Amino acid sequence: MHHASRRILARGIVATAVVLSVVGCASQPHVEPLQIPTVPAQAFSGTLSSSEAVTPPPTPDVPSPGEPGFDPDDPEAWIAAIEERWPNVDVVVCDAVEFAEECVPWTAEEVQLLYETLEEHILSAYLDGPIRFVRDEREPWHGQMIPHRTDGQPTSEIRVDDSAWHTPPGMGLLDTLDPLFRRSAHFQGVLAHELAHAAVWFHPELLEWWIEAQDASGHDLERGGWRLGLWYNWRVYEECEDDPALYEELVEGELFAMTIAALMYDPWLNQGRR
Ligand SMILES: [Zn+2]
Repeated sequence: MHHASRRILARGIVATAVVLSVVGCASQPHVEPLQIPTVPAQAFSGTLSSSEAVTPPPTPDVPSPGEPGFDPDDPEAWIAAIEERWPNVDVVVCDAVEFAEECVPWTAEEVQLLYETLEEHILSAYLDGPIRFVRDEREPWHGQMIPHRTDGQPTSEIRVDDSAWHTPPGMGLLDTLDPLFRRSAHFQGVLAHELAHAAVWFHPELLEWWIEAQDASGHDLERGGWRLGLWYNWRVYEECEDDPALYEELVEGELFAMTIAALMYDPWLNQGRR
């Protein structure tokens, strides 16, 4: 993707966020669809060699959702479908063969929501590094993106727990009562939020463009604003306040992730769509 088109993408996200925030309290907000100029056809699988390109791909052994033989009630069928479609993604099954610390098994509904979130993520073209998903038995974070490096390359582990079902993506004033409700849009919003952090970890320039585009638009989102992030626990970053540059990066990273998640799954901003 060219630099210029990425910049347009960042501006498009900001412009859409501004449209949403202006009409956020209307009963039927008018939401402009996001314009994403170019999405590489091979975002996840890399470049095919010329010999591979002319040969049709072999029929995969793993049935895709909707195909004969696919059992939508079987979590492992969804996990196999995810790992087949996105080879950079590993979903930890959490059984005797594949497990991680503090893991619990995914339900079929949860891994279906993960499949759909990966499929429709606004930043899917930037989710091109290794991502490992763990369903966590503890409930400290709703979701958490743990950045790692393997042989110098950024990799990411995303953990999600039960409380994700009750965490609204925007965490704004309109969402005050939402934690009472168990919603798939909440669970997907947490996944979308953590995936936005992973996209920034893989492509730090995304955050620079987000900050630049906000400055250019003159509509700076602020931490603790009523539309977005009012209920976010900003105290987790208090200890970084002595380092203004780092603190700004962390706060902007949160606002960016919340904006992406809210654009995709906020029940107030997506009325009629979900
Ligand atoms: Zn976050």
